[in-house]
Amino acid sequence: MDHDELPKWSARAANWARDYHKGLRDRPVRGQVTPGSIRDALPATAPEQPEPMEAIWADFERLVPDNMTHWQHPRFFAYFPSNASPASMLAEQLANAIAAQGMLWQTAPAANEIEERMVGWLAAALGLADMRGTIHDSATTATLCAVLTMRERALDWAGLTHGLSGAGRVRIYASEQTHSSIDKAVRLAGIGQENLVKVATDASLSMEAGALQQAIRADRAAGHLPAGVVFCAGGTSVGAFDDIAAGLQVARAEGLYTHVDAAWAGSAMICPEFRPLWAGAEGCDSIVFNPHKWLGVQFDCSVQFLADPGPQVKTLGLRPDYLETLEGEVTDFNEWTVPLGRRFRALKLWFVLRAYGLEGLRARLRNHVTWVAELCERVAAIEGLEVVTEPRLALFTFAHVDGDSATERLIRAVNADGRVYLTQTRHAGRFVIRMTAGSFDCTRDDVMMVETVLREALG
Ligand code: PLP
Repeated sequence: MDHDELPKWSARAANWARDYHKGLRDRPVRGQVTPGSIRDALPATAPEQPEPMEAIWADFERLVPDNMTHWQHPRFFAYFPSNASPASMLAEQLANAIAAQGMLWQTAPAANEIEERMVGWLAAALGLADMRGTIHDSATTATLCAVLTMRERALDWAGLTHGLSGAGRVRIYASEQTHSSIDKAVRLAGIGQENLVKVATDASLSMEAGALQQAIRADRAAGHLPAGVVFCAGGTSVGAFDDIAAGLQVARAEGLYTHVDAAWAGSAMICPEFRPLWAGAEGCDSIVFNPHKWLGVQFDCSVQFLADPGPQVKTLGLRPDYLETLEGEVTDFNEWTVPLGRRFRALKLWFVLRAYGLEGLRARLRNHVTWVAELCERVAAIEGLEVVTEPRLALFTFAHVDGDSATERLIRAVNADGRVYLTQTRHAGRFVIRMTAGSFDCTRDDVMMVETVLREALG
């Protein structure tokens, strides 16, 4: 395989990709595969001699497509979407061809400056025009960066040099509705799970500002070090939103750093009518959202906005002699993030934002929200089912009125059918089924198929 042969195979791959995507509706959403069977179908060791591409391709077709869960399937309603538009796939191919490692401005000037510009485009599109930012691989990494910054800011940057052994207890605050990536960040930051204070929520599942205030005061009285608050804007379980404005007022008065996890819901904020849901976010220190979830920019692409990059760069930046940039003042994004090496993720943002335009993307998101609301009404009308949490953007949950076992039997039957794929969560002690739509090619008929499958499963 050399560069002259690549175009032939690339063309074949492009044709394959078109047929794969166009044929997704005819496939079950989840791979019908038993654990271990793919591993066992592969030789235990790598080949000593080169193999022909034909044989490699044939094995790909034989082993991979039927044994994958199809995230781009228009009826993938599980977890949150991880949607990929054709323009994004094309950009990713070009980024792969250049295969740059963009750790410094000088190692990938165009990648670096397109990233700067794309974050600016997105900040303006989401109503955050005053914020700067960078692109990470995942929301987990972005949140880790924010939590490390909270920690170091509270320790006056002493932890970086002396470690944490002599430090007081650093305290971070979030509600139960936040994603487990907050727990992971607190663990990885050496803060410890027990110092993540889960603040009570009210009936609408929003963090109670009064309870936040009390928790901070109690911690100060106990000699602890309150460091930061992580707000939830579109929780994974049922789509909860904190009243960020109210919590932010408390956090600011207490001098705490603030971060918003809008990994899923952030994409929706390109539509002005959804922005009241995260009112206050624009005043926070840091926000993460994943264009790779719901904006058609394929995995991985997670954007973090920062009101002032200074504290994060002070926490994460290191500049040894061999990484000095000799060109003068430029932004080296490795100083804003955990890894040194960086992929050219901004290219797919550029392609997607131009190929569909903000209006094209808004239309898709609005459709998903509208269709999910319609489906919710239809599910509520099915005998034996009840809606447990009403739609928040494009997510609602429901359950069988006969209890958890019946709900679990139902989701198993639905997913065994294969036409749609739904996942579960626990809410207020109940096992419930989550329904969320967001695939790039999803239509109203695809969403309404859930009603058909549910009715058939219930007999
Ligand atoms: N935050 C929320 C609300 C999420 O739903 C998820 C994943 O689904 C994450 C964070 C973690 O995202 P990532 O996979 O980018 O780390």
